[in-house]
Amino acid sequence: MGASSTLALCATVAGAAAFQIPFLFPPSQTLVQITNDTIPLVNSSALQDLISGDRLLVRAKKLFEIAKLGEHEYNHPTRVIGSAGHVGTLSYIYESILELGPYYDISNQSFPAVSGNVFESRLVLGDVVAKSAAPMGLTPPTKNKQPVFGQLVLVENDGCEDSDVPDSVAGAIAFIKRGVCPFGTKSENAGRKGAVAAIVYNYEKDAVQGTLGTPSPFHVATFGLSGEEAAPILKKFEKEEAVDGIAYIDSEVNQILTVNIIAQTTAGDPENCVMLGAHSDSVTEGPGINDDGSGTISLLEVATQLTKFNVTNCVRFAWWAGEEEGLLGSDYYVATLPEKENKKIRLFMDYDMMASPNFAYQIYNATNALNPEGSEELRDLYIDWYEEQGLNYTFIPFDGRSDYDGFIRNGIPGGGIATGAEGIKTKEEEKMFGGKAGEWYDSCYHQLCDNLGNLNMTAFVVNTKLIAHSVATYALSFKGFPERTGFAASSEYHSQVKYHGSKLFI
Ligand SMILES: [Zn+2]
Repeated sequence: MGASSTLALCATVAGAAAFQIPFLFPPSQTLVQITNDTIPLVNSSALQDLISGDRLLVRAKKLFEIAKLGEHEYNHPTRVIGSAGHVGTLSYIYESILELGPYYDISNQSFPAVSGNVFESRLVLGDVVAKSAAPMGLTPPTKNKQPVFGQLVLVENDGCEDSDVPDSVAGAIAFIKRGVCPFGTKSENAGRKGAVAAIVYNYEKDAVQGTLGTPSPFHVATFGLSGEEAAPILKKFEKEEAVDGIAYIDSEVNQILTVNIIAQTTAGDPENCVMLGAHSDSVTEGPGINDDGSGTISLLEVATQLTKFNVTNCVRFAWWAGEEEGLLGSDYYVATLPEKENKKIRLFMDYDMMASPNFAYQIYNATNALNPEGSEELRDLYIDWYEEQGLNYTFIPFDGRSDYDGFIRNGIPGGGIATGAEGIKTKEEEKMFGGKAGEWYDSCYHQLCDNLGNLNMTAFVVNTKLIAHSVATYALSFKGFPERTGFAASSEYHSQVKYHGSKLFI
């Protein structure tokens, strides 16, 4: 796998180099605003009318063909960052926008991304194989990618401070409670004291599917463990009985270069932009046609149809990379925006998973109480539209699981819609949306079968029309939409959000 990773790096760099243009912010003073009097001003229903399922499907087929480029290296279709399937996706997006001529300025933003693979893992506690043991995302392997043996040593408090970790952890396996600080901090603290592996056990019954986040030289091989499987171990500690364990993780963490693609209308007020994004990458396991091929395609199609109209405000489309590794592309983009540029983004709309086969029409429940002012107005725009169409909708938590997170954390109002991932459809939702209660919204979420057969075309068309509506509304006017204020999220947002992308980080 080492050799193939080198291939991946070369493929990405070569692919990125094919359209390497330095990323520049459009200089507002010198920007030539193109106004074309021969085309009408944008109108929501006219833009919505141009959205067709046939065109979306043609693009989905194209994307699946592109995902097959990943087969050579991964033995199955994938568009994971670093793969030929992702490089092909970037070229497809770039070329599609380029074909639209001077209507858009396109830029590529290259950034370093870490990508991790776990090939094999096993955790034995006493003489029991821990069923819930899940290697953390971006975990390093155990020493020499071999099993390591050691006593389990209970770390005090939450393992967030150096002083919580007893010296006896050296050569042992640290046993740490989940909570208060990120998993990465716990692993680092244990690694610094010489632990050979770490286990973060849940304070709840469930398993922990987490990520260590940004790699550190002090990270040690780290598992998440369910509260249920941790309970008997904790009992033994209480009785001062010794427990030993065997930990084994064969994994790698690579740094690669990947690319965000940004397209901005040359017309429209560049000081007041409506921004929207989808992620261009998939997970390693599959082609990601719903996640987030659907959002990627919706944005391409709306960007294409928008060229038939003039705009008052600038519209900025983004295709993020590295979402599946922990929102890397969108985080990088927002983190590197100077305040002057940050302020020009009036709001950010996230479109991730538009066509889940067992869909619900989900709206992120983004309120102004918890999020930058304007997030709630955007939420209400989605509500009003579904109601006008006579369609049902539900609210879902706005909890850091997609690319809006970096925007909210930097004071930019945001929100979005989705159709559901690994959650289970309720009986009530079955009545509201059809489909099947008791099953995942997307039974192929993050799997090989997220292919062409994994799109619900009704939901795909409905939601792409709603995306068109959101773009048309704000491209026309920000009347009544709150002005931008600060550059940070509320402390409540910080304390409530436990996800960063699809994985828990805390
Ligand atoms: Zn996604």
